[in-house]
Amino acid sequence: MLLENYQPRWMNEELQLLRDATRRFVEKEFIPHSERWNKQGCVDREGWQKAGTAGLLCASIPEEYGGGGGDFRHEMVIAEELEYADVAAIGIGVHSGIVAHYILAYGSEEQKQKWLPKMASGEIIGAIAMTEPGTGSDLQAVKTSAVRDGDDYVISGQKTFISNGQLANLICVVAKTDPNEKAKGVSLVMVETDKVESGFERGRNLEKLGLKAQDTSELFFDNLRVPAENLLGPKEGEGFKQLMQQLPQERLIIAVSAVTAMERALKLTSDYVKERKAFGQRILDFQNTQFKLAERYTEARIARSFVDDCAMLLMEGKLDPATAAMAKWWTTQKQCEVIDECLQFFGGYGYMTEYPIARMYADARVQKIYGGSNEIMKMLIAREI
Ligand SMILES: Cc1cc2nc3c(=O)[nH]c(=O)nc-3n(C[C@H](O)[C@H](O)[C@H](O)COP(=O)(O)OP(=O)(O)OC[C@H]3O[C@@H](n4cnc5c(N)ncnc54)[C@H](O)[C@@H]3O)c2cc1C
Repeated sequence: MLLENYQPRWMNEELQLLRDATRRFVEKEFIPHSERWNKQGCVDREGWQKAGTAGLLCASIPEEYGGGGGDFRHEMVIAEELEYADVAAIGIGVHSGIVAHYILAYGSEEQKQKWLPKMASGEIIGAIAMTEPGTGSDLQAVKTSAVRDGDDYVISGQKTFISNGQLANLICVVAKTDPNEKAKGVSLVMVETDKVESGFERGRNLEKLGLKAQDTSELFFDNLRVPAENLLGPKEGEGFKQLMQQLPQERLIIAVSAVTAMERALKLTSDYVKERKAFGQRILDFQNTQFKLAERYTEARIARSFVDDCAMLLMEGKLDPATAAMAKWWTTQKQCEVIDECLQFFGGYGYMTEYPIARMYADARVQKIYGGSNEIMKMLIAREI
């Protein structure tokens, strides 16, 4: 049984209906615009709102906060369909799987009521701003500060590489409320950009190797005032702990997209090598092709089993940081290897961006870098040895 027929053990009728509905939605509302989105460097705001109306945003947020009332499997199904359709660059994973879950886990009742329903409808687009020009991997060293002044926090600093950075109107900013402390000085402060009058600017939409339709930006904070009630969590200094608790889910979302990309690359390649001929036979008829594809199908199947297992652990509240790190580094490493090898079977066509495999090659590379680089993942695993 090859990958197309594989059904995870967690699949059920309801999730299959969600898969079918997502596929229909993506075909009608996303695919016709995807070339334009790639060129303009971001998805239309309208695309987000349509996704919200169709129930594709915040699928794993409880219904009482406007979400779909599902769990991680629902996010997985949606992420997989976006990946299969080559429109994964739309930052739904960051929005629904990460930012909304920070609010759900640490927000006050008032914050949840205020933001989550609008995130589910697509009226609000979420981003998380951790990385700074001077620090990415070493999160404790962030320099952006959020200093309490009366009923406000005054935020100053700079962030970079922020996904959804051009469109986001709710940004979870990782800042130091106590610059003298390392991890203990970190807090998460929500910035509602629509309410800002001064002190906040977006930099340019950064030109990237891949993920062309995703807006990725620098953000500048210059004595930006936000209400003190925008702190996430009951008190200052909890930010690092909150990040560590949520990062396994973020890493698993990356692993889900990695394994889905592998499956897609293998399907595209299998179709191609059955059609294309050289030396009077199909490319598939060369034993080199057969063996290489056999190896890569096996790896994709192993990756799928591991990711499915991690998803079950996550839903049981048992996905530990080291296991999530294993899933993130290994699946993204394999994604890059599989896509590289698949591209080779396309010959020169594989290098042409009109062929999806070429775009997949470019999109894949960042998977080993963001969400915590793969070297950092190995450090997390090694700490447990
Ligand atoms: C397309 C894209 C989207 C992104 N989206 C977001 C986002 O939405 N929000 C956000 O906050 N960030 C985002 N990022 C940033 C991303 O998370 C960081 O780039 C990443 O964490 C690495 O940080 P850095 O770039 O500062 O590299 P550095 O930390 O400078 O690392 C450079 C290299 O050194 C290695 N290295 C660092 N420390 C060690 C160590 N102790 N041992 C061994 N090797 C080490 C790293 O693995 C890496 O290979 C995004 C990045 C990209 C490219």
